Amino acid sequence: MYYLSTRGNKEKVTASQAIINGLSADGGLYVPSKFPDLREEIKNLYTLDYCNLAFYILNKFLVDFSEDELKSCINMAYDNKFDSTEITPLKKINNNYFLELYHGPTLAFKDIALTLLPHLLNTSIKKNNIDKNILILTATSGDTGKAALEGFKNIDSIKIAVFFPEYGVSPIQKLQMKTQDGSNVFVAGIKGNFDDAQSSVKEIFSDNDYNKILNKKGFMLSSANSINIGRLLPQIVYYFYSYFNLVNNKEITLFDKVNFVVPTGNFGDILAGYYAKEMGLPINKLICASNENNVLYDFFKTGEYNINRDLKLTTSPSMDILISSNLERLLFEISNRDCDIINKLMYDLNNKGYYKISNNMKDNLDTFIGYYATDDNVAETINHVFKKYNYLIDTHTAVAYYCLEKYKNKTQDRSKSIILSTASPYKFSKDVLVSLGYISDNLDDFEIINKLSLITNTNVPSPISSLKNKSIFHENLYESFELKSALKNYLGI
Ligand SMILES: *Cc1c(COP(=O)(O)O)cnc(C)c1O
Repeated sequence: MYYLSTRGNKEKVTASQAIINGLSADGGLYVPSKFPDLREEIKNLYTLDYCNLAFYILNKFLVDFSEDELKSCINMAYDNKFDSTEITPLKKINNNYFLELYHGPTLAFKDIALTLLPHLLNTSIKKNNIDKNILILTATSGDTGKAALEGFKNIDSIKIAVFFPEYGVSPIQKLQMKTQDGSNVFVAGIKGNFDDAQSSVKEIFSDNDYNKILNKKGFMLSSANSINIGRLLPQIVYYFYSYFNLVNNKEITLFDKVNFVVPTGNFGDILAGYYAKEMGLPINKLICASNENNVLYDFFKTGEYNINRDLKLTTSPSMDILISSNLERLLFEISNRDCDIINKLMYDLNNKGYYKISNNMKDNLDTFIGYYATDDNVAETINHVFKKYNYLIDTHTAVAYYCLEKYKNKTQDRSKSIILSTASPYKFSKDVLVSLGYISDNLDDFEIINKLSLITNTNVPSPISSLKNKSIFHENLYESFELKSALKNYLGI
């Protein structure tokens, strides 16, 4: 098992090198040389607890990690930072299954990978005798930033810089980042949207001159975004884990097929589901749930990916994205790993803002189906699910729920479906409160949170209630073209 680039520069790297580099030098994304086949082994796996299952799966991919190294990383990640011993509990509500991925320290699904990645990276640095300081460069649509900051804070020889769109994240997400402590963290808002932030960060990665300067001064870039394969692989685990949960609870029989509904932005989470399917997990459909930034919905329908449209700010800000980076990894698979095709498509995307895939490639997309929800659909869904089932969901999860209902109405498919619940409703408390029919005018963020708690009789998660007493450490605001100089200032070079 080794890792290669989707854009095909013949480079073969180990897992630890792929994790350190983040992005391949040719601008492509690292992918595993093949998918481990678990079809024969699945029947031995369904009783494993989360950590053991994570070890079993990741050990197939991270082959240059020793078993002890990997176990130690996993045990450091999935401990009492999570407020559920199951790490990713599955809740049955009426006839739906919600996979709650928000029980980690920052209350979004990003924690599953970002509690582990720092340990994987630290081990990789030692393994490869890297003598430079690593600078983790991260663009965030709201949740990655905080999860990465918590994961990487105060780790020796690593620094982390996070850029978020000043007007594109929820008030709580912003507060979480601005109050971040740690001796090695840099946090800044940028004037622009997430695509601007992500493009600026990617541009820094591919700026050779800038990287040479950094190297001379003893720094080297890496990424905590889902372009890093070390972010993606840990997300495969909960697809298996939740499937096995259904088996253990006799909701399905082993080898029955299920659907997963995934609220999608950068296409990282749902791609991990595709990888799980390639490994033999019995998946019927992966339902790609978008908000009104529905590029992916159009793509699955027509085979054309077109970003020539305005990015909308919605109530599900972590999905306010037009350029879904990880789609490149899917294109690689559905083109039967043809790098020439990928280079051509990515060239078109950069230069014309769109590309169209061939019919052959489109035929390989039949695992996927896309739907989308408007902000109104989201509000009605939150209201409906709470009133009917007394279960509170966040705006992103509501996008998924709505899309699943649509899928069920439009098809005869009655397979069981698992909804990926990607964030705590308290991260988006204002929109959730308003969805429930209350007025939030004149209330500050914490009054909104308390009101939500009172009305719904649910507890405010402690990472949110504790924000109230924290000081603001970061007030930086930059134009996206100022990032390079801002970073140099921060590093003192
Ligand atoms: C990041 C995020 C998503 C989208 O995940 P991708 O891997 O970017 O597709 C959905 N919901 C929430 C709450 C998120 O933070």
